Amino acid sequence: MADNTFDNVAVVGAGTMGHGIAQVCAMAGMEVRLFDLSDAALQTGLDNVHANLDKGVDRGKVSAENRDQALQRLAGTTDLDVAVDGADLVIEAVPEKLELKQSLFSSIEKHVDESTVLGTNTSSLSVEKIGSVLNHPERLVGLHFFNPVHIMKLLEVISHAGTSSDVMDKIRAFGSEIGKECIYVQDFPGFATSRLGVCLGMEAIRMLEQGVASAEDIDAAMVLGYRHPVGPLKLTDMVGLDVRLHIGEYLARELGNPAFEPPALMRKMVEAGTLGKKSGQGFYDWR
Ligand code: NAD
Repeated sequence: MADNTFDNVAVVGAGTMGHGIAQVCAMAGMEVRLFDLSDAALQTGLDNVHANLDKGVDRGKVSAENRDQALQRLAGTTDLDVAVDGADLVIEAVPEKLELKQSLFSSIEKHVDESTVLGTNTSSLSVEKIGSVLNHPERLVGLHFFNPVHIMKLLEVISHAGTSSDVMDKIRAFGSEIGKECIYVQDFPGFATSRLGVCLGMEAIRMLEQGVASAEDIDAAMVLGYRHPVGPLKLTDMVGLDVRLHIGEYLARELGNPAFEPPALMRKMVEAGTLGKKSGQGFYDWR
């Protein structure tokens, strides 16, 4: 493997995003340690990486040799100190809670070198606020990956006011080493992707609520008329209505913009457990 910017990467949280981030780093030749709280959560994450790579081999996208080498470079642990020991990049992908991310980074900082770069996969929280607990916040950067990580090309890189230019240079190189297209965004609520995506989604729900058109026709408007690969209502189903509701509330508050306020229909659906794909029913029937 060619020299990478980071040799040793720790990924904290082995869920939907963490296992995919670990996979792309291992495939790019980095030694990766994946951490989760329990053996069960960790094993699920590792199994998902295996399954993704097996599928890649079946489809002819990954050679069996590259799969085997990537798996050899990937180790799992439920000991955070072991996970981050010697890492030159640590990426967290734990649930979207400010205090959780802050306390995690506080503990991580005690165990890593001063030169270790820290990345957060937050999809909406302020990177600066997450880093406010650090002794060296200049090493923290937002690394917003997309689901599924091994397929989605975009990496939204968020720098806060104090992120160092050295860290940004390293992340620029890292992005291309893992085969992603980076966009660079300042630390505003919702960054570029969540702000635009959630705004469109909320307006589509308001249109459905007002009886402008059916869910299928609202989605077709954007798919056929604007070449979006998926309509805003179907995408809201795929992300989860509960997840988007929280982001909408947060953005309405932080940006002072009522366009992000979750419509009554969305609140009713979330209260009823109609959360989209994961619950089997949303704007569409997924069963
Ligand atoms: P997830 O719930 O699938 O996974 C989170 C994992 O973190 C779980 O395995 C959980 O056991 C683990 N965890 C919980 N507390 C922990 C702790 N204290 N230390 C270590 N691990 C802990 O969540 P996800 O969807 O992977 O989201 C993770 C982050 O990525 C969130 O900030 C989310 O906003 C962001 N994100 C999610 C998506 C998406 O489509 N799901 C896309 C982009 C960004």
